[in-house]
Amino acid sequence: MSDKHRIPSSAQLIIFSGAGLSAESGLSTFRGTSGLWENVPLDVVCNFATWERNFDAVHAFYDARRIAASDAKPNQAHVIIAEWQKRWPDRVRILTQKVDPLLERAGCHSVVHLHGDALSMHCVVCDLQWKIEAVAYDQSGCPTCGKKKTVKPAVVFFGQAAPEYETLHTIVRNLRPSDTAIIVGTSGTVLPADQLFGASPAFSILVNLEPGTAMNEAAFSARHYGPATQILPELTGLIEKRM
Ligand SMILES: [Zn+2]
Repeated sequence: MSDKHRIPSSAQLIIFSGAGLSAESGLSTFRGTSGLWENVPLDVVCNFATWERNFDAVHAFYDARRIAASDAKPNQAHVIIAEWQKRWPDRVRILTQKVDPLLERAGCHSVVHLHGDALSMHCVVCDLQWKIEAVAYDQSGCPTCGKKKTVKPAVVFFGQAAPEYETLHTIVRNLRPSDTAIIVGTSGTVLPADQLFGASPAFSILVNLEPGTAMNEAAFSARHYGPATQILPELTGLIEKRM
């Protein structure tokens, strides 16, 4: 069929990414097999029940993460996602479990950060969230209520509600057979992408460095193992056909 006769499509492309997407940019993945993140126990710096007690350790840790992210550059996987979004405006939705800003630095917009944003702070009392960019937090307190000890990094900690999960579930509920979902760089340990996208009517494509055991990977319509920076650009032809 020539382009002239093509019926305007409303097919959606959903990108669901995990920390593996940024690993090739030199930012370590959130969850290693050791349960440590850069040798700091996750339970000390990512736990909503204890973060106030560990206030100084929490801020020191995220200050270091933020500064480490300041000169991190998006890789080819981030760049191709941004290109797809530019090409099909309003039909590409980007969801990420990552808390780094690399998708935005590649030119992506309206990214849903399911687990928060490491470059913002959050006051747990008045719920204000504000950007501080890639610098150490000066501990000046909440701009609205003025409290100091109620300010934490705007990253969703273990035991803390993740408000954007609602957005994720709405998108998954509305998936149709004409839609394509690319699940990239996620082990499925925190969010079960096999049950979310693999069980949906959409054409679901898993892109991971290697096969894993946390998900039923046979649930996805297609699986590609290898670096996302290589595989995502190769999927462009397939996406063109489906969009
Ligand atoms: Zn406040």
